[in-house]
Amino acid sequence: MSLASKIKEIFSQNLLDTLTKIGQIAENHGLKAYAVGGFVRDLLLEKANFDIDIMVEGDAIPFAENVGQELNADCKLIERFHTAHIFLDKLTIDFSSARKEVYRRPGELPEISFSNLRDDLYRRDFTINALALSITPNQPFELIDLFGGESDLRKGIIKVLHTNSFLDDPTRLYRALRFADRFKFVLDSNTEYLFDKAIKISAPSTLSIKRIAAEIDKCFKEKYPLSLLNKYRSSGLLEYYHKLFKGQTRPDFSFSMVRAMTTRLKSKFPGIIENAVFWSLLLSTLPLSEAQTLLNNSGLPHSVVLQVTSALSSWQVILTKLSLAETKLEIYNALKDACPETLALIYLKNKNKEIENKINQYVNQLYSIKPSITGKDLVEAGIEPGPQIRQILEKIIEKKLECPELTRKEELNLAGIPNI
Ligand code: ATP
Repeated sequence: MSLASKIKEIFSQNLLDTLTKIGQIAENHGLKAYAVGGFVRDLLLEKANFDIDIMVEGDAIPFAENVGQELNADCKLIERFHTAHIFLDKLTIDFSSARKEVYRRPGELPEISFSNLRDDLYRRDFTINALALSITPNQPFELIDLFGGESDLRKGIIKVLHTNSFLDDPTRLYRALRFADRFKFVLDSNTEYLFDKAIKISAPSTLSIKRIAAEIDKCFKEKYPLSLLNKYRSSGLLEYYHKLFKGQTRPDFSFSMVRAMTTRLKSKFPGIIENAVFWSLLLSTLPLSEAQTLLNNSGLPHSVVLQVTSALSSWQVILTKLSLAETKLEIYNALKDACPETLALIYLKNKNKEIENKINQYVNQLYSIKPSITGKDLVEAGIEPGPQIRQILEKIIEKKLECPELTRKEELNLAGIPNI
């Protein structure tokens, strides 16, 4: 089957038309354009991948602007990197200029210069990611395979393009394990040799914490994060994120429960962030101050950092309170200030059935119990602002926990203000 037919079958006629149009616009600009990277790899594997990278031999910026206008799509330019993104329905199309990379110092970002298709493919991590699909009308939907990527895909092999690859950019060590784990591929023997050699000379120590964290973050987005995380542990890659992970070589099966746990909590707490649960679980094995510093240096989105900080700083105290709680009010009070990620973390860390039952009781029954009158109602009814407002509301909650059908009128009676 031709690659054009594959695109039509796996995606849609619409995507085929869009790529054809982009190729046509490139030709009008006198440029050659190619789809590259994961999209091409996954197309050959017959998997849908909605992140499309388009590379042009020439300046991608004016070209992407023009594509944005012609397709009537939002276009975001990143002038500094000579790249641009176009957002089209559920597709993100990234545009970049063909470039050559020179690594002056291992582990640091490379120096970049405009170049051609060959150099751009040669700078890539593995042969299976160095495939290009021409989309210009003179070479429509033709596969360009300069380094044997198609055959490696068929054989199930991860292979670097040159001997220095892992030293130039040790994030490729993490990437190699990620693709091997995802596709159930193996490293080819020379790549495995170079991989072991790079670990032996501690190549990842040249990487910043942010770059390692970005790789771990991608691990948490994989279908089976536990399997990949175990490989990061057993290969020694995790300890470059923090040295205390060195001693932690045993698999932690809780990681395989994060997704199900988050999905379950989502029905009650739609804002729960799955990624924050993964990060909380990983960092919860470090001393709190170390975990917090590491988290602050990891370059994760602010929303994730906030939830992880909250979970890490509160889960142990809440767990202690919960183990002592006996009445519904005590369970409610122990958990009422916990963010959903903290609830998930306590679930995952705890091995005690009684505690689990208490959390279930809170999530399924107690959590949604709220007084229908508020502190503002009480102040408007003439009660002085201060601790008595909290006491009255707590009294109402206590009653409501036993008797959820309590009406607003009965609540007001309990508050001693029947005539509001
Ligand atoms: P995924 O399916 O996980 O998104 P991907 O292959 O699309 O995988 P990206 O990280 O989006 O991965 O990168 C896009 C392409 O850029 C890769 O296919 C590869 O060709 C190239 N690339 C990304 N990171 C590196 C790297 N560290 N070294 C060399 N090439 C890289």
